[in-house]
Amino acid sequence: MASNYDYIVIGAGIQGSFTSYQLVKRKKKTLLLEQFTLPHTRGSSHGQTRIIRKAYDQDFYTQMMDEGYKLWAQLERESGVKLYRRTGLLVMGPENSESYLDFKSTLEKNKTPMVVLTPDNFSQHIPNVILADGDGAFVDTTAGVLYADRALKVAQEHFQKLGGVIKDQEKVTDIKPGPIVTVSTSAGVYQAKGLVITAGPWTTKLLTHIDLHLPLTVVKINVCYWKEKIPDSYHVKKRFPCFLLTEGEEAGDHIYGLPSNEYPGLMKICYHNGSETDPDQRDKQTDTADIDILRRYITRSFPGLIPEPAVVESCMYTLTPDRHFVLDRHPAYGNIVIGAGFSGHGFKFGPVIGKLLCELSLGEVPSYDLTPFRISRFQTNLKSSL
Ligand SMILES: Cc1cc2nc3c(=O)[nH]c(=O)nc-3n(C[C@H](O)[C@H](O)[C@H](O)COP(=O)(O)OP(=O)(O)OC[C@H]3O[C@@H](n4cnc5c(N)ncnc54)[C@H](O)[C@@H]3O)c2cc1C
Repeated sequence: MASNYDYIVIGAGIQGSFTSYQLVKRKKKTLLLEQFTLPHTRGSSHGQTRIIRKAYDQDFYTQMMDEGYKLWAQLERESGVKLYRRTGLLVMGPENSESYLDFKSTLEKNKTPMVVLTPDNFSQHIPNVILADGDGAFVDTTAGVLYADRALKVAQEHFQKLGGVIKDQEKVTDIKPGPIVTVSTSAGVYQAKGLVITAGPWTTKLLTHIDLHLPLTVVKINVCYWKEKIPDSYHVKKRFPCFLLTEGEEAGDHIYGLPSNEYPGLMKICYHNGSETDPDQRDKQTDTADIDILRRYITRSFPGLIPEPAVVESCMYTLTPDRHFVLDRHPAYGNIVIGAGFSGHGFKFGPVIGKLLCELSLGEVPSYDLTPFRISRFQTNLKSSL
């Protein structure tokens, strides 16, 4: 016989964990299903660190992060666990390029604290980095590092403390929509009034059960750590900031990095794109074009790093064509909510996304205008059966 819940959430990454936590806070009997044994390293939310920032090229992200910072701070207070370390974020890019100017003007418009650097004072503030000729630079001073693994654990623990149920090692194999949704897994059958799908890179596979196709592309990211020539020259304790290059001569997508911290003597620097992969066969994707881009960039701009990665780990992005999230109800089944396509920048929004997906599930007016995140912006291919 099927077990009954108010809500079922599929996927215990950062978005599913925060959504479940919000639902249980609203006194909803909630089941969080996860295909792997927790914690795991096969999705998008693992690893020790993520960047948190307000620096964006779109107002709506910067504005959502006002609340984002508050919710992270609240969770820190409630849990007694340190989740955030302020480091600042150095933004660099061709001074007259659209993307660099959009980042800068968004912060200015939203009155976010920032310090603009000039070619003359740059090396005084940011030692061991070479600013390219024609590049501008500023620092988003409130940005920093989120301790990702800890944050995920805290969200799941808080959910369970309030009575939420997590079942890991249970892969969802079928979804039957209707006023009561039936979800089958490798181990059981569950029913609920509402369903939230936060399945990260597996979203496309799950949506086939409910006749929806979204234009999502899954890419593998080579998470590269680069050794300091002189130990600690880019260390968080020396107040070295996170950084983001909007575009450079090596490639059109961002390059970003975090100060050395998690692995002694190693700085994490990654390319903000990768090669397409099947999430169930991630490690069969062996393309290293992104690492070549990073080698060239590090040789040019980070003279204090050995331009050969010392450690390479793997992670996945689920990209939408416009790189904006999907936060919406299923077009035909109003009690199925989808949170997907976080396009490599969703972690920092976890507490806000959880709140929004909860509001959508409960049929409430969402706290933010969700127009940029609607499914209808795509030429949605709803199958004729609907
Ligand atoms: C290298 C890297 C660096 C990043 N850096 C940043 C950053 O600095 N700042 C930032 O804000 N964001 C960053 N991100 C993005 C951020 O980490 C992701 O947007 C976020 O983790 C996505 O979370 P999710 O819950 O949607 O997906 P996931 O974490 O992948 O969670 C989905 C879960 O669903 C489960 N699942 C899937 N199918 C099923 C099924 N059939 N049955 C049961 N369970 C299922 C999966 O196993 C998985 O656990 C980065 C991402 C990567 C990869």
